[in-house]
Amino acid sequence: MSGRLAHKVAIITGAGSGIGLESSILFAQEGASVVLADINLAAADKAAALISARFPNAQTLVYKADVAVEKDIKEMVDATVAKFGRLDVMFNNAGIMHPQDDNAITTEESVWDLTMNINVKGVWWGCKYAILAMRNNPTDASRGLHTGGSIINVASFVALLGAATPQLAYTASKGAVLAMTRELAMVHAREGIRLNSLCPGPLKTPLLMDFLNTPEKRDRRMVHIPMGRFGEAVEQARAALFLATDDSSYMTGTDFKVDGGISACYVTPL
Ligand code: NAD
Repeated sequence: MSGRLAHKVAIITGAGSGIGLESSILFAQEGASVVLADINLAAADKAAALISARFPNAQTLVYKADVAVEKDIKEMVDATVAKFGRLDVMFNNAGIMHPQDDNAITTEESVWDLTMNINVKGVWWGCKYAILAMRNNPTDASRGLHTGGSIINVASFVALLGAATPQLAYTASKGAVLAMTRELAMVHAREGIRLNSLCPGPLKTPLLMDFLNTPEKRDRRMVHIPMGRFGEAVEQARAALFLATDDSSYMTGTDFKVDGGISACYVTPL
């Protein structure tokens, strides 16, 4: 452990897979006490077992929570503070990409509502209860602990760029995450609570790979990626770690892009 999050407490939603899993491992490695929250309890349990096998001194708490349900998030934050005494980092990472999410004509209202409830309302609840907890964080200057904290909300490169392979509800939900994060960052800037969005590019995680389930679908996207490959979840986890630590202490309200260059590209290299 090199201790970039020593003495700090972090909640990671969607901790059972992809970005959330890699971030849980990395945050624990850096000394944080980590709350592994997921709607899939078995996946979160597996993540906790993996962490304790690799870092026997790591402190973890597994929590089954549906981020779309306010009560779940309130109780999860309460349980975190009850166990660890504070909350320094809230990583609102959980999100879905519904297989029936399509264009304006074909997308069902139920798909829209489910996507918005998880991807947008879930981030709102996460911010709300994290802000309330972070205001009450005890200070201990000798350990680098202060009131306030860092909230990281996962958006997506599709919040910045249009795609002719539509997923209307998903794209709209991630645009909402960017706008909401920016505004909350301004409202809470003088309380020492930083809020930033992470905008991942397309990744080799179940969320995208289950959707891009043919070589044709993958090739249709690959041609637009300047670096010529899908990203790895751990590459997002490293960015989340940066936003979580005091290394990013003068950053708030940013759209932090970790996207293999997609959002900067007109023509990709041959
Ligand atoms: P993933 O599918 O690998 O993991 C998501 C995790 O979230 C799962 O463990 C799942 O059980 C959990 N989850 C789903 N709904 C939940 C809910 N209602 N409450 C609590 N937990 C829930 O996904 P990933 O690729 O790691 O994606 C993580 C985040 O990154 C998402 O917000 C996603 O939209 C975003 N993102 C992903 C990509 C990509 O290409 N994979 C690109 C841009 C943004």
